[in-house]
Amino acid sequence: MMGHVLAIDQGTTSTRAIVFDKAGQPGASVARPLNQIFPEPGWVEHDPDEIWRAVCEVCGAVVGEVGAANIVAIGITNQRETTVVWDRATGAPLHNAIVWQDRRTAPLCEELEREGWGAHVTDVTGLLIDPYFSATKLAWLLANVSGLREKAARGEVCFGTIDSFLLFKLTGGQLHTTDATNAARTMLFDIRKGLWDPLLLDRLGIPPDMLPEVRDTLGDFGQTDGEAFGVVLPIRGVAGDQQAAAKGQACVRPSMIKATYGTGCFVVANTGDSKAQSANRMLSTILSQEQGARTFALEGAIFMAGATIQWLRDNLGLIADAADSETLAKDANPDSGVYLVPAFQGLGAPVWDAGARGAILGLSRASTKADIVAAGLESVAFQTRDLLGAMREDMAEAGIGEIDTLRVDGGMTSNSWAMQRLADILGEAVEVAQIPETTALGAAYFAGQAVGVYGDDAELARNWAPARRYEPQMAADEREARYAGWVEAVARVGSSQASVN
Ligand code: ADP
Repeated sequence: MMGHVLAIDQGTTSTRAIVFDKAGQPGASVARPLNQIFPEPGWVEHDPDEIWRAVCEVCGAVVGEVGAANIVAIGITNQRETTVVWDRATGAPLHNAIVWQDRRTAPLCEELEREGWGAHVTDVTGLLIDPYFSATKLAWLLANVSGLREKAARGEVCFGTIDSFLLFKLTGGQLHTTDATNAARTMLFDIRKGLWDPLLLDRLGIPPDMLPEVRDTLGDFGQTDGEAFGVVLPIRGVAGDQQAAAKGQACVRPSMIKATYGTGCFVVANTGDSKAQSANRMLSTILSQEQGARTFALEGAIFMAGATIQWLRDNLGLIADAADSETLAKDANPDSGVYLVPAFQGLGAPVWDAGARGAILGLSRASTKADIVAAGLESVAFQTRDLLGAMREDMAEAGIGEIDTLRVDGGMTSNSWAMQRLADILGEAVEVAQIPETTALGAAYFAGQAVGVYGDDAELARNWAPARRYEPQMAADEREARYAGWVEAVARVGSSQASVN
């Protein structure tokens, strides 16, 4: 029973604790849903106290089940970018957390663009100016929460992402820290130097005092103070959710790549010890930091992956639950010619057209709901091919070479029709993770490596095996014809097209 690692996975919609054994197998697991607060259209908040209570509850429950004596370390992974400010003396939040999805700072981002900060942000932080990241959220809080700027100037306020807030609370206010992967998502951190960027802090009026100390991903984050959930345990690993998922998929060498298919899809490719500069608006970020040495990654996202299936279910009522999409897709006419372009929030990589809107094209009298559902699943495969094409260019430019076999995880990977179609459209094999909780596993790996429960990265890579491997089965000419149809469909939903119509 000894030698277990407790992973805390604080996600956007839930908070979970899972205990992993020495072999990396999940055991006790408890989760709590998280309330989403929408004060205005485009605004999304979380209550930090609710998150903190949930962490205490889920950890208390699994520790009760497994026994504190059997747990040697805690690893934390978390929703990234979400921004919290709290009182340094009391630990009390001074506002709701502003969630990564929140768009309230779009005007400030436009201002930064107009002032010409784009090149600096990309060069230094690896990111693009966007409300998504923490920087402008923190600037908004300082400007809009009564008295906050003055209090911050007196050194009485801490800023942090969710990991940082939890570390502060778990250690009874002993530590105001974060890890390098989380710092890399603030749009305030120089990812090459590993330091907060003085120019951005100055422009946004952020007092450096309120920023957390940045530590290694596999690091020493103190210990729980016993108040939290009754036991004192060392915290030895912290990583943002996508970086943790890459670790859980053992993407530990340059050119290894994973895609997580949840609501959206996040693709992360290991680029080794140098920051790759994307020509395709991919993000450069820190994948992990160990003994001060940083490993970098390229990251791209598809806005609508599982969300397209939710839309087919909730808005069109074509399916009763997500799993029905597989049964229907099997009944679809393989030659229906139907394409669904889920540009509900515009188009991402490589087109980048915020004004584009979704469409279903190629309908005939014979088209059925099965054809539309199949087209919805197929759109995820096409978007992945688009994204990987862009990433491949950037990786080649950076001299990293060809990307490895795509490792996939997340809710959609249980759909074998969608995964087979993904392999077919990519013309390459796709491997599904054995442990569905890849993100939590990654957090456990970081912490467990730090205390010697798990071997080094080479050992993690050796032990990784897919639950299932999908080989492409579609003939090359059919694949290219289908993809050409997708490219044409995408061209027809562009915003320039819409304004002509
Ligand atoms: P998140 O962490 O973003 O909430 P999950 O990894 O839990 O996402 O995956 C949930 C998403 O996966 C939902 O958007 C759902 O529509 C989709 N999904 C779940 N099961 C299936 C399935 N069998 N076929 C297609 N999509 C699915």
